[in-house]
Amino acid sequence: MVAPGLRLGAERLFEMPAVLERLSRSNSTSQAFAEVLRLPKQQLRKLLYPLQEVERFLAPDRRQDLHLRIFDPSPEDIARADKVFTATEGNRIDYVSSAVRIDHAPDLFRPEVCFIGRSNVGKSSLIKALFSLAPEVEVRVSKKPGHTKKMNFFKVGKHFTVVDMPGYGYRAPEDFVDMVETYLKERRNLKRTFLLVDSVVGIQKTDNIAIEMCEEFALPYVIVLTKIDKSSKGHLLKQVLQIQKFVNTKTQGCFPQLFPVSAVTFSGIHLLRCFIASVTGNLD
Ligand code: GDP
Repeated sequence: MVAPGLRLGAERLFEMPAVLERLSRSNSTSQAFAEVLRLPKQQLRKLLYPLQEVERFLAPDRRQDLHLRIFDPSPEDIARADKVFTATEGNRIDYVSSAVRIDHAPDLFRPEVCFIGRSNVGKSSLIKALFSLAPEVEVRVSKKPGHTKKMNFFKVGKHFTVVDMPGYGYRAPEDFVDMVETYLKERRNLKRTFLLVDSVVGIQKTDNIAIEMCEEFALPYVIVLTKIDKSSKGHLLKQVLQIQKFVNTKTQGCFPQLFPVSAVTFSGIHLLRCFIASVTGNLD
């Protein structure tokens, strides 16, 4: 599951200030990420590896319940992934088109990842945060009642496509379920589905519909916990343990490691970029 190209684990790198220093000066590291690397160690850990922050509050024998280190890239790999997400002349990151039906979806043969979640879960904020290194990209949001919800396609250079799926909710119309279901079932180049769950409220009834779809079609999917800045450490820990237990006991296709993120503090965003780059074959 971890890209073969992934090198040093997080822990080892944190023990080597000289490596961090070299990395922050290296040409292969973007200016923005070089700044990140200059943060104090605790802050850096919290920003890059938020799940490890949660781990600190667990009794040692509970820690193996949390699959914290399955995807454990070094800051070097995270820096490489940030480059993939950085818009340049040679790496155009653009909105491509929108579609209401799968047969209107653009024929893109690159690997694809999609984001699904309940309305208000923080999906557009997360996608904007992922694309913050490509400020020209406009993440379109159609939230007005009565407006057709669409799938929005974004291309990230020659690397992969990101699809922003319409948000679902208890008032999701049937044609919306058909659209998402058909996409998930038929999209051949779909490499990973990112299912967003609000860390404040945990998995809701409507989330189960999306989880069941992913399970039924045997899709590899990942649970992303949004808005982690809104919870106390204790509340976040409780949610993480509950959701982790659910993933371990009730799902087959869900990646065992959770990805907590905040679009406000940017915690977990770099790690998520790195995971996307990895599952689309861009860190090999
Ligand atoms: P969407 O409907 O899933 O696209 O959700 P939005 O991205 O529009 O977010 C819904 C609400 O949650 C907005 O008021 C956002 O400002 C807020 N929000 C989104 N992400 C975060 C986050 O990481 N932290 C906090 N505190 N608020 C967030």
